[in-house]
Parts: sequence; C-alpha cells; structure tokens
Amino acid sequence: PDRQVQSINPATGEVIESFTPLTHATIETALENASERFRTWRNVSLDERAELLNRAADVLETKAAEYARDITLEMGKPLSQAEAEVRKCATACRHYAEHGATYLQDETFHTEARRAFVRHLPMGPVLAVMPWNFPFWQVFRFAAPALMAGNVGLLKHASNVWRSALNIEDVFHRAGFPDGCFQTLLIGSSEVEGVIRDNRIKAVTLTGSGPAGRSVAAIAGDCIKPSLLELGGSDAFIVMPSADLDKAVKSAVTARIQNSGQSCIAGKRFFVHADIFEAFSKSFVKAFDALKVDDPMKADTDVGPLATLAIRDELADQIERSLKGGAESLTKDRTVPKKGAWIAPQILAEAHSGTPSTDEEMFGPVANLWKVSNLDDAITRANRSQFGLGSVLFSKEEAEIDQAIRQLEAGATFVNSMVASDPRLPFGGIKQSGYGRELAADGLRAFVNRKTVSVA
Ligand code: NDP
Repeated sequence: PDRQVQSINPATGEVIESFTPLTHATIETALENASERFRTWRNVSLDERAELLNRAADVLETKAAEYARDITLEMGKPLSQAEAEVRKCATACRHYAEHGATYLQDETFHTEARRAFVRHLPMGPVLAVMPWNFPFWQVFRFAAPALMAGNVGLLKHASNVWRSALNIEDVFHRAGFPDGCFQTLLIGSSEVEGVIRDNRIKAVTLTGSGPAGRSVAAIAGDCIKPSLLELGGSDAFIVMPSADLDKAVKSAVTARIQNSGQSCIAGKRFFVHADIFEAFSKSFVKAFDALKVDDPMKADTDVGPLATLAIRDELADQIERSLKGGAESLTKDRTVPKKGAWIAPQILAEAHSGTPSTDEEMFGPVANLWKVSNLDDAITRANRSQFGLGSVLFSKEEAEIDQAIRQLEAGATFVNSMVASDPRLPFGGIKQSGYGRELAADGLRAFVNRKTVSVA
C-alpha cells in the first residue's frame, strides 16, 4: 500500500494532491485508539457531548469557505452549494446537541416490576463507508448522532475526496473532541472487509452504490454486525393538473440538477399528467436550456462537471442506451469542455422500459420525462423501479395526495416540494435503496443497544 491516491480536479483533469494510504500497522493503531477511546467516551456526560458538537458546528461555520473550496476542487460541485453543504452539517451538529438527550431518554414500560424501561447505550466503534457526492453532509449525517449517542466513528471515505476526509477529521479535532472519537482511515475499498471483521468494530453504515452496499452488508451479516445502507435512488416526481405549475417546474429543475445531478434523492423520473404535459414540458426544457454549465468556482454556475471521468463515462453510456431504446432528447445541443468530466444537461422523453431511464440510477443532470394519463398510471410506473428512496407529488387534490402517500413505494413522499434531507426528519429507503433510517431520533438510535431493564 505505498501506492499514492490522487485527488483530481474534475473541472480540469489536473492532479490536486496525492495521499499515502494507511498501512496495516496504522490501521491497527487507529482501531486500537477507537476502542480505547470508547471506554472513556461512553461515560462522558450528554451535556459535554452536546457542548463539543456545538463547537464542531462553530468550526464548520468559521471555516465553511475553506472546506467548500476543497470540496469543489475535489469533486466539482458549484462552490455556493459546497458552502451550503458545510453549513448544513453545522445544523446537524446543533440539532443533536439540542435534541440528543431527549432522543436518548429511557423509554418507560408498565409491568409487575417496580421499574421497567429501555435504556439506549452506545455500541462502540462504528465504521462509516461514505461517498463523494456530498463529501461533508453524508459523513456528518452519520457522525453527529453517532458521537452524541456515545459511539466513536471511523471514516472510510471515497477515494476521490481524501482532502475532505482529512478536513472532517480536522473539524472534530479543532472542536476539542478527544483523540480517537472520530478518525479518518485513508484506505481503499479492498481494506474495508478486514476492518468490518475486526472485533473492535461493532457496526457499519454505508452510503453509495448497490454493489458496494451488497458487499459491505454481506460481510457485516457474516459477522452478525448491524448495518445500515443508504444506496441509490431513481425518485419519481409526479405532477398532476391541479399543481401550481410554475412551482412544480422550478422544483423539478432544482431537484434534478442540484449537485450537478449527483444526488440519491434527486427527482430522476418525471411523470406528468397529459392535461398539463405540453405546458410543463415547454417550461422544463426552457429552464434546462438556460442552465449555466460552467466553472464550479464561479458564483453563477448552475451545473459543474461530474465528479470523475468514470462517472461521466457511465452516464454518457446510459444516455446513449436510452436514446437507442426510444428516448428523445428535448434539450438543445451544447458543447462542453473536452478536458474534465463535463456533460451537457438534458431531458430525455418517453424512453421505453428496459432502458437506463426506467431501470437504472442516472447520476448526473439528466431528467427522464413521461406523459401519464392519470395518477394510477403514474404510480404504477413509478413503482416499477427497483429503487425506493424518495418520491414527489405535485397536486392540490386531497384524494390524490392520500393515494400517493399510501401507494408510492419509497422511504419518503414529499408533496408540493422536492425531497430534501433534514436533520429533523428520518431519512432512508426501501427496496434496492437500502434499509435503516438516518437523522432525527431514528438516526441516533440506529447504532445503540436498546437495553431492556426490569427492576423487581
Ligand atoms: P461506490 O458505491 O463505489 O462508492 C461509495 C463508497 O463505497 C466509497 O467510499 C467506496 O470506496 C466504497 N466502496 C466501493 N466498493 C466497495 C466495496 N466493494 N467494499 C467496500 N467499500 C466499497 O460509488 P461510486 O463512486 O463508484 O459511484 C458509482 C455509482 O453509485 C454512482 O454513479 C451512483 O449511481 C451511485 N452512488 C450513489 C450515491 C448515493 O448517494 N445514493 C453516492 C455515490 C454513488 P472507493 O472510493 O475507495 O472505491
């Protein structure tokens, strides 16, 4: 493992920085530090943990611009969105500082015993395998509740965002968390199995692709260790005639192109009722054609490059297969820079089933659009996906809203707004989008021992 791992600026193709992965000896040291630290961290008071999380939030806010610049350099998202991401992490830290004690309260039961309750106890060191698309948010969504619960964290971050991985460790260090509470392991995915199997690791959480999730969950299963998976999505976005059309189009555009389209909860498949299809489609295409695809460091850029050449090539291949499978591109032709991981935003209409548009996750600024005859039709098609993360309905009809809530196969249904993750709301999927819930009280209880206590 003296092979260097490089961060490459996807806007230009230039190497930004090289990193030396950890050796087996340094991985061992980190595991030992985590295990040692857990022995004392589990006894630190909730007030003190909350105080440290608030300080982490202060660090994030103070250094937001600096961390954001590194994020944009490494994975290409527009700078303003990178800064917003870092600030959102501060809100997650403050949320758990404020509500953690309540979420962790004993749950009382009534039996013949004098006292019966469930107490939430930490489990120990938890491994987090995280992706590059929201290099800070995905990690803090795990780390803030895990630390508040009294666990300690180890991060295996995606290999293209190791500066951000080190910056996150730096946040906890500056905030004053004791050493070993949160450590970044600069390791490749081949080292993950050994870490999960190590006795000192008590649980694992992964956000990323299906293949990565399947591998990690299989190993965790083999060791009988809890796992949480947040995998891909191909969220349906349904628009009915009663919708506020301007608002629906604006939300549709943001839902699809935010983060240059690389979001698990992005609206990816748009089902629009025939009565308003022409009007919706016209504004949707107009908005896509007006998007500014440019240097992600510029303030007015809407869409930057994709995170890596491999991601770009995969999406380009998916678009080609969907076009061959009957889709029609409604958006204007654009030229994008040859150097770097650029792709033109597009809207693909009426792709046939069996194409990437219907069957796969398309991770970039490509919207798939279909005309539907009614809500039953929309929901049937929406549910054909293997994924079940988020879903959206734009409608003012109570009966339609109720039907969508009951029938859409997804971990979330948002009505008249796009899906967004929020520390106050549980977050997670069903079907191939994974299992378990992050954020809110669920996120804090994801990795605790709910110990049943009965005192006679
Ligand atoms: P991966 O799932 O491969 O990467 C996510 C994380 O998992 C990284 O830390 C990666 O490490 C690690 N990993 C990958 N394979 C394994 C494995 N077998 N065992 C243990 N850890 C592993 O995502 P990609 O970057 O390859 O992206 C591919 C596609 O995945 C995207 O186009 C998108 O469709 C989907 N994706 C979805 C995300 C979401 O938020 N839903 C986020 C990211 C990707 P390393 O980088 O070292 O390989």
